Amino acid sequence: MLEVKNVTKQFGGVVANKNVTFSFEVGQIVGLIGPNGAGKSTMFNMISAIFPPTTGTISFNGKMINELPTYQMATIGISRTFQNLQVFKNMTVLENVMIGQHIHSKTGILRAALLSPKAKKEEKRVYEAAMEQLAIVGMDAFFDHKAGSLPLGKLRLLELARALATRPQLLLLDEIAAGLNHKETLEMSQLIEKIKDMGVTVFVVEHDMDLVMNICEKIIVLDQGEKIAEGSPKEIQNNEKVITAYLGAETEEEERVI
Ligand code: ADP
Ligand code: MG
Repeated sequence: MLEVKNVTKQFGGVVANKNVTFSFEVGQIVGLIGPNGAGKSTMFNMISAIFPPTTGTISFNGKMINELPTYQMATIGISRTFQNLQVFKNMTVLENVMIGQHIHSKTGILRAALLSPKAKKEEKRVYEAAMEQLAIVGMDAFFDHKAGSLPLGKLRLLELARALATRPQLLLLDEIAAGLNHKETLEMSQLIEKIKDMGVTVFVVEHDMDLVMNICEKIIVLDQGEKIAEGSPKEIQNNEKVITAYLGAETEEEERVI
């Protein structure tokens, strides 16, 4: 489904990803982990066409997507959430999800506003589909709440519903459990598994190791831009390079505190 081949991304003098190669098949939950600054978000930004790789190729379902415009990602079947939430705080929960649906609607927002019978019918379909996504993440009861009034845990669920609204084949989740408590993280794990069972392939960047180790079938590890390991949760937990990378990162943090 996804093939990343010899991908390097440079920002001026900073090499955020260095000659990274990996691939995965449809129908699984794959993890992308690594210490802060390892290049995880940069990799997600390239896969979701926020910017292209400096060198190397990214292919989705056998098609090169390096130069695809960002707005076409949803059309080809890739959707994502962001590390920093991207919800519209002044809109209701339902409106936030309906915005995401309109790429699959023939009429679009402007024609729907004219309220021709055809547009009304289309808008009803978009509404029902949005409510369906909200029900999947357990947020349907909050449909008329302003997004800005929700606590973080609910905002993350809303962001997830919005990403699902474009009916992706591949869903990228960048630190979807950041800031969630233990119970919310557990519920998020179960939800991600449910989404996989619906037939969506999920690629997660996550710091919560329990979540990653429990739900991922395969894990890719980056450190300072380079892939240092790839394998099952068990293989990754016992990998010397991975242990060293994480211990190194912790020591640096301790030194900084001192
Ligand atoms: P991670 O998500 O693993 O914490 P990032 O991909 O955010 O890591 O960052 C990797 C490196 O690339 C960091 O040194 C970061 O400062 C740099 N970087 C990321 N995005 C940009 C950008 N848009 N412009 C310049 N440097 C960036
Ligand atoms: Mg990041």
